[in-house]
Amino acid sequence: MEKILGLKCRETGRKYEKKPIHVCEMSFAPLEVDYNYEEIKKTISRKSIENGPLSMWRYADLLPLDGEPVTGLNTGFTPLIRAKNLEEALGAKEIYIKDDTVCRPTLSFKDRVVSIATSKAVEFGFDTVSCASTGNLANSVSAHAAIAKLDCFIFIPADLETGKVVGTSVYNPVVVGINGNYDQVNRLCSEVGDVYNWAFANINIRPFYAEGSKTLYFEVIEQLGWKPPDHIIAPAAGGSLVTKMAKARREFEMMDLIEDGSRTRIHVAQADGCAPIVNALKEGSAFFQPVKPDTIAKSLAIGNPADGIYAIETVKESGGYGESASDDEIIKAMKLLASTEGIFTETAGGVTLAATKKLIESGRISRDESIVVLITGNGMKTIEAFNGHLSAPHIIDPRLKSFTQLMETI
Ligand SMILES: *Cc1c(COP(=O)(O)O)cnc(C)c1O
Repeated sequence: MEKILGLKCRETGRKYEKKPIHVCEMSFAPLEVDYNYEEIKKTISRKSIENGPLSMWRYADLLPLDGEPVTGLNTGFTPLIRAKNLEEALGAKEIYIKDDTVCRPTLSFKDRVVSIATSKAVEFGFDTVSCASTGNLANSVSAHAAIAKLDCFIFIPADLETGKVVGTSVYNPVVVGINGNYDQVNRLCSEVGDVYNWAFANINIRPFYAEGSKTLYFEVIEQLGWKPPDHIIAPAAGGSLVTKMAKARREFEMMDLIEDGSRTRIHVAQADGCAPIVNALKEGSAFFQPVKPDTIAKSLAIGNPADGIYAIETVKESGGYGESASDDEIIKAMKLLASTEGIFTETAGGVTLAATKKLIESGRISRDESIVVLITGNGMKTIEAFNGHLSAPHIIDPRLKSFTQLMETI
């Protein structure tokens, strides 16, 4: 029996074959992978997972590949860290950091989704992969394309951070910088996709790509001894990660791998300068107003999120809430995480931690409940965020006297 039945419309349930398509012809709603859960349930167990590889592929039974993965063999199974110093700083009893700053190969959670997208592109017979990216996706698609020996075209806003551009170009794809924001890049890519028969990770391959996000939830649960936490705080760009937290939870419940998954409240974090999902939650609306992004958290700067309404629905259904953070709060939170837990996150992680702090302070998250903060990218990629925000090194001559003089001033 086949593990994957095909694709299914999120709104109408209309079914489609396994193909590189992403929206329903009737409703224009997104398509999702439709699994044969009864078949999967026959073999999956905590034990079968625990005996699997130390990567995201330990959950392969709930991922949409027909064959073996061709890239990303070391992706995922990143540390879940009990953050004692951060607990002290925030006055909370039980905080964990899910540390995707060390996700391989390109140091962000995007390697999870791209591992699936790349293998799926190969299974569909594409020879070229592409994407519209806010940065991390560009890094990841280029690296995976190199490993899989695929041609690669990357479309990014022209004003991305140097770390994100260099971390893409080093893999030697064709990189196209667009004079415009992500939403304009994405629109252009949809048009390019009509002309060129390429696998766009986050467009025509999106239903498969998005499944990779589930592994973040799966890992957190397994690493907590199969016990769902009280709260998960997740950042949102296009809203896919947040939405897939709920799908992952439903699947683990269906497979009898967890009880009481519904105890977990899923909260969403965005930057003040790009918070369509959080704004809607605060207004109590089921719909979001697109915005024009203006934030240092460029990896989250999507003003018209493709899965926005589903992210809103997911958060509401779970009993969670949303918070946003200013550029200053983002930088302070990045410093806080570094100085308490030794973890250097990119601006997106600053957004997530700053939002967590606010949710604790406002009482939306109770101080004695268990909290998991998803830190999704590495700080080395966004160093310009700190321009003017860190003290410069003390420059001295190579003499002990210079050092002792310096010590008198510190
Ligand atoms: C892409 C990204 C996210 C969230 O992505 P969604 O589009 O909402 O799934 C979160 N953190 C980082 C660092 C990212 O690059």
